[in-house]
Amino acid sequence: MQKFSIAILTTCCEVKMARQVQNFADCMVEAQRILSAAERVVVLTGAGISAASGVPINSVNHSDTSFLTTVTTETFSQDPEEVWRLHLGLREQLLWCPTNVAHQALATYAMDHPHVVLTQNIDGLHEASGHPKVVALHGTLWANRCTACGKIRHDRAYEYPQGLPHSPCCQALERPNIVWMGDHLNGDVLGYAFHAVSLCQALLVVGTSAHVQPVSRFAFLARERGAAVIEVNPDPEGFVPANIVIKARAEDVLPQLLSM
Ligand SMILES: [Zn+2]
Repeated sequence: MQKFSIAILTTCCEVKMARQVQNFADCMVEAQRILSAAERVVVLTGAGISAASGVPINSVNHSDTSFLTTVTTETFSQDPEEVWRLHLGLREQLLWCPTNVAHQALATYAMDHPHVVLTQNIDGLHEASGHPKVVALHGTLWANRCTACGKIRHDRAYEYPQGLPHSPCCQALERPNIVWMGDHLNGDVLGYAFHAVSLCQALLVVGTSAHVQPVSRFAFLARERGAAVIEVNPDPEGFVPANIVIKARAEDVLPQLLSM
């Protein structure tokens, strides 16, 4: 599987490089035309869209120096107090991180151009911006999950003075509703995401190199189905088979790109 992925990515680099002869202004105009005309748009976001909000980390895949790279279901079962302590500390930090103009531009765009946001971020900032349709692929820091039945409960507490949280449904210990290292993505969530991507006419990839499976497959699927793929990234790494690459930070271009 790993070899297969690398082979595909090499091809995609060639596709993208061939298209990069367009200048920045032409890319913006063409991307705006596509996003204005498309009836079915999917937006895939990653850590880059929250950078201007001061988010210290985002998702397990983008937290090289974070404790999130070491937390697993096994470490949680061994020491739930410590794992919860770390997650609650992160919640407290994120309480001070506001949405930025990139989140807000997408939420405004959604009013006249309904679309779904597939985000790898766990910060909850798309939801906080008022976006009506967000799919959190890696879960969210702002929810707990019952370890007995899997039921998810919204929760914004950053301390539990009465002890670790237990679920109202089963009175079982709750865990943070985040996809940790070694966890599978939620099957329903992933199925919905692939379905949306397979039907879209335009896929806008913002602030993510999208190099981690299964998210790395979204752009390829979109291209196979004839959709236009637009990448917004100040430092694209070549993993996204984009028709149009806008080399810029999300907060610098999304307000203009989505003002239609
Ligand atoms: Zn339960």
